[in-house]
Amino acid sequence: MDSLGYHYPEVAAERNPHNELSPWHIRPNDGRHVEWICPGNPTHRWSATPVSRVSGSTCPECQVTGSLTSS
Ligand SMILES: [Zn+2]
Repeated sequence: MDSLGYHYPEVAAERNPHNELSPWHIRPNDGRHVEWICPGNPTHRWSATPVSRVSGSTCPECQVTGSLTSS
């Protein structure tokens, strides 16, 4: 259906499993904040809305350090 897990499995995989909302209960255009875990460094955790994630936002710490290359 219209869920993050269905349309954006790669983004959904970065969701912190401690979130109450599962990827199947989050819509890609959801405006609620969700916790995420950085795919490049699991110590990086941040909060963002699904709508910002699917539009291309990534880990803010990696954006600063540039340690996560976009290959
Ligand atoms: Zn990061």
